[in-house]
Amino acid sequence: MPDKGTVAFLGLGHMGTPMAVNLVRAGYTVSGFDVVPAALETARERGVPVADSAAGAVAGADVVLTMFASGRQVLDAYRGNPGQPGLLAAAPPGTMFLDCSTINVDEAREAARLAVEAGHRSVDAPVSGGVVGAEAGTLTFMAGGEAQDFESLRPLFEVMGQRMVHCGGHGAGQAAKICNNLILGVSMIAVSEAFVLGEKLGLSHQALFDVASAASGQCWALTTNCPVPGPVPASPANRDYQPGFAAALMAKDLNLAVNALDSTGVAGQMGALAARIYGTFAAEGGAGRDFSAIITDIRGSADPAAPATAAAEATGTDAPGRSRTTAAHDDGSPE
Ligand code: NAD
Repeated sequence: MPDKGTVAFLGLGHMGTPMAVNLVRAGYTVSGFDVVPAALETARERGVPVADSAAGAVAGADVVLTMFASGRQVLDAYRGNPGQPGLLAAAPPGTMFLDCSTINVDEAREAARLAVEAGHRSVDAPVSGGVVGAEAGTLTFMAGGEAQDFESLRPLFEVMGQRMVHCGGHGAGQAAKICNNLILGVSMIAVSEAFVLGEKLGLSHQALFDVASAASGQCWALTTNCPVPGPVPASPANRDYQPGFAAALMAKDLNLAVNALDSTGVAGQMGALAARIYGTFAAEGGAGRDFSAIITDIRGSADPAAPATAAAEATGTDAPGRSRTTAAHDDGSPE
């Protein structure tokens, strides 16, 4: 791909528009398209030249960059419908198909297979960094595809991002993204459970943070995106859990991880449980909150009778309504 070439940018949503704006500012010739007229208009107002059809956008493009919500949308757009040629058919031979959407690994591999079969090249490169990173041009790209194709896209990645990692063959970018987010989802739940437990045990947030952040409990969910206000002033907990990384997107990515666990036969119990927890949280009103707001759900589900019981057990006295004989032994073993 020539440096400062022509990029057809399809999917001008929350992420796509600022990414396209950065490409325009960097001197690329951009031809944008979105199936939603309002999205197209917003992009146009922000300075992105737009086409009046997908086929019009990809004609003459060096790179076809897609930034859609799902793998189904990517595959449908690549293939087209009866009577309406898809992107693969509309693009000049040898076009680079760069999909930056977050989708299933299997779908990414299928998209790459279709692109190569149609005489094109293909790289999957999902991103992290959110809308803030897309605006600032500081995204991280996790890429899967041929090494030389990754290298040819480096100048493009450098405009939209700060970090880019070639993770392996087709689908490896998606694999890296969902494996990372599986760690993140599970660790945020663990950190949140620990803070709520600490509250019940009379431990201050700061004390738990001071110990765990410098001990073996240390992780990004604790030290950067801390789910309680105070210890990390920049974390979303300090602004009523405005995202950040929305719980709906965490639920989506964990579902992709579960699909991959299923298709590979890996018995990932924690990932599956985290997917259920975030799925419920998103469906019950938490979708637009930062994913660290899961702590409010954990706190809200605590047994209201438990604090007195815990305090009583700590001092060796019986609490009303709960027999000491039903409690676990001090060593944690059951009766
Ligand atoms: P979005 O829903 O805001 O944007 C997707 C856009 O694609 C929509 O405007 C939609 O109309 C358009 N679209 C769908 N099919 C199309 C087609 N055939 N042709 C042209 N346009 C089409 O989603 P988003 O928040 O921008 O996220 C995009 C991707 O990035 C998702 O896969 C998401 O998981 C991932 N992602 C998002 C974030 C974030 O913070 N929003 C962070 C990291 C990764």
